Amino acid sequence: MRRLTEKRLLVATHNAGKLDEMRALFAPHGVEVVGAAEMGLGEPVETEDSFIGNARIKARAAVEATGLPALADDSGIAIEGLDGAPGVHTADWAETGAGRDFMQAMTRAWSELEARGVPEPRRAAFHATFVLMWPDGHEEIFEGIAHGRLVWPVRGALGHGYDPMFMPDGHDRTYAEMTADEKNAISHRADAFRKLQAVLG
Ligand code: IMP
Repeated sequence: MRRLTEKRLLVATHNAGKLDEMRALFAPHGVEVVGAAEMGLGEPVETEDSFIGNARIKARAAVEATGLPALADDSGIAIEGLDGAPGVHTADWAETGAGRDFMQAMTRAWSELEARGVPEPRRAAFHATFVLMWPDGHEEIFEGIAHGRLVWPVRGALGHGYDPMFMPDGHDRTYAEMTADEKNAISHRADAFRKLQAVLG
């Protein structure tokens, strides 16, 4: 695996929370993290049908625009009984035309499981994929996963997205019933993050 020896890294996200997380990871190693917004980067259209493909689109666009090595991520939930849907369309299922409504997205997921008569437990997995790309086109990929099952009615008010319907394996509370610290210790993103640390090793 190629190590990150450069001292500046572009993190291709407009999400302030993700940026803070990356700054905290890289700062002790003397790597300055630069965000997409401060470099005036837009958000490329995600046209691929895989998390890796879409993370790669974001990483490549950032590398080409800045000449810096760039890290991009893509994430979502794959429901077994729905052949992996919503997958790369996880956020799309929440679109209403007037912002995102994740209750709408979760209701759709459960309704489609009901319509197909999928037996319980209704298995699902959250995925988080990081692509780290250098200006010469070399890339390293880190994939995090959290397995679990879906519950209905939804439970909990913490977190975001599909958290209220996802019960990770080995736990009796949903992501939305966990504090940020509890979720961050076991989440798909934490798993990918742990793997990413290898580039600093
Ligand atoms: P993106 O990776 O920023 O494109 O996000 C994809 C979508 O996946 C988000 O809009 C959320 O709906 C969903 N998602 C990703 N991670 C989580 C999570 O930890 N909890 C709930 N939903 C998530």
